Amino acid sequence: MTRYRFFGGKGGVGKTTCAAAAAVSAAERGRDVLLVSTDPAHSLGDALALRVGPRPRRVPTARGTLQAVELDAERALERWLGTRRRALRTIAERGTYLDHEDIDQLLELSMPGVDELIGLIELRRLARRAGHPDVVVDTAPTGHTLRLLAMPDTVRRVASVLAHMQAKHRFLAESLGGGYRPDVADTLVDELDAEGRTLRELLGDPARCTFAWVLRPEMLALEEARDGVAALDKAGIAVSEIVVNAVTPPPSRGCPGCTARHHEEREILAAIAVTFAGRPVRLVRAYDREPRGMSALRRVARDLRRASALPRRRRQRPRAARTRPPRGLPPWLDVVAPAGVRLLLVGGKGGVGKTSVAAAAAIALAAATPARRILLLSTDPAHSLADVLLAPMDDEERAVPGAPDNLRARELDAERALLVRRERYREAVDELFNALTRGSRFDIAFDRTVIQELVELAPPGLDELFAALAVVEALTSASGGVYDVVVVDTAPTGHALRLLALPATALQWIHALLAILLKYRKLVGLGELASDLLTAARDLKALQALLADPGRTRLIPVTRAAELPRLETERLIAAVTRLGIDVGPLVVNAVIAPGCATCTRRARAERRVIDDLRRLQRRRRARHARSAMIFAPTMSPAPRGATALREWGHGWRLEDDRTA
Ligand SMILES: [Zn+2]
Repeated sequence: MTRYRFFGGKGGVGKTTCAAAAAVSAAERGRDVLLVSTDPAHSLGDALALRVGPRPRRVPTARGTLQAVELDAERALERWLGTRRRALRTIAERGTYLDHEDIDQLLELSMPGVDELIGLIELRRLARRAGHPDVVVDTAPTGHTLRLLAMPDTVRRVASVLAHMQAKHRFLAESLGGGYRPDVADTLVDELDAEGRTLRELLGDPARCTFAWVLRPEMLALEEARDGVAALDKAGIAVSEIVVNAVTPPPSRGCPGCTARHHEEREILAAIAVTFAGRPVRLVRAYDREPRGMSALRRVARDLRRASALPRRRRQRPRAARTRPPRGLPPWLDVVAPAGVRLLLVGGKGGVGKTSVAAAAAIALAAATPARRILLLSTDPAHSLADVLLAPMDDEERAVPGAPDNLRARELDAERALLVRRERYREAVDELFNALTRGSRFDIAFDRTVIQELVELAPPGLDELFAALAVVEALTSASGGVYDVVVVDTAPTGHALRLLALPATALQWIHALLAILLKYRKLVGLGELASDLLTAARDLKALQALLADPGRTRLIPVTRAAELPRLETERLIAAVTRLGIDVGPLVVNAVIAPGCATCTRRARAERRVIDDLRRLQRRRRARHARSAMIFAPTMSPAPRGATALREWGHGWRLEDDRTA
């Protein structure tokens, strides 16, 4: 029996490191282990300090066997479709008005959100093929992991839609031909339904599948963990342990830096003990350098095996309240958001503090330019804006307590946006069929079921599509937009890239759908769907032009001064540059100041990473790219609320091309 161990959590908390350490440790106790990353922004190779790709690769261990894979969703989908393409085409031809040509055209298109759709199926295929008893999975950051785990139900719903498409064909065959013989199409429907059911059973069986939630001892991570673990519990997936990574060791006397950090972390650990009472909690120490390679992973594995006693909650020490808000403009503001900029995308590995940086930048910008209306928009399905701003947030644009009045904030709710559109199309579909039934079409009932089920299906890539449309809505006056600048707190790297690539993919889909609608306009009419598609096409083209304009758009990469975030940042900058989007100054967050021996050692390790980042920037400057860097100091407690964020922003240090 294969056992699956998932490691999940906010990005950047060290999920990958913990998953790799657990896999190494299981292998060296004599097990046969497959270690898989399903995060589209893979760091497994970085953690193992090896090159890892879509084919299982042997990792040398002292005992047992360990193979590592970074899953490639596009390739996995292509393989899956391979032998099934014919059956899919047959079903679509039988169940819709589409012909061969239309269907091939649709099957050729690339699909956003395919990572989640194919992830679990591919995972099981890999595990089955090599016959590994232990599978350790490094998942994507929270929001997309929850989508991944919901996929078994989506797969079954796809099976149900296909079954209804088949029903009409079966009915016709039985009533006209006098008999029905099941064929490859029926086999495919059964296969999909069984796959969905098997995956659902697997995820819900604590003997075969467990989940470790990884977080850093930070308030934001705790709040996300609370929501995430609750969502998994609700979905019937067993969260068997909590891993707290990068815990500060006891402080040295007289060092203000680590004393403050240690005290804040004790408060948070006490809160973790209360929140997750009854679940084992493992503590992994903060190492001077981020653990990479086998011997470092073995040390992490030892921490993971040790049971830890958590501190009890202590009386909250009153915080020193500052009364005077900082004056003047922070010097970095003009480099991040010069006049003319309309879209600021704040991106990076999860957990590097993207949300705090985006919020601090938006607040500083609003304070500096009272005439500009600023929207701070979170498109990460695992939102942290409310936690950072210390105010309730939702899908409405809301004022931020303590921030200038020209700032609004919103946490995009893609599910809600889908529901609204769904209602609209459901009505349109009903009207259309009511109009058609007045004629005498005997197979109308089948078609109606099929189309209604298609409308019900939540397509993958939903978050990215609605995020893109929300940005356009906020900026273009035609659809009521009233903002001069939108600051986007994006999802972690892999999904942020999906968002940036979305306009091109979505336009291909829209063109294909419009072509089909035009071809069948006599049968189904053009209606509201066609006009919505035309509007969406216009919006997506506007977004494409905006993204490609360096005067109006820039992406601000955020990183921490540690090895894994640095490697991911380099890949992010390269990928964004390839997409033709301007990259603004690089923000290095949570920089530690030298102090006691420990702090000084950690600061020195950070400086080595920062030197590598400077070299990267120098190479980019040689190619005429923007190369300024901004250093944001670490703070204990972490800045939350508009006033604290504004003060924190004033402490950022700009290192410009000319001063570097
Ligand atoms: Zn210290």
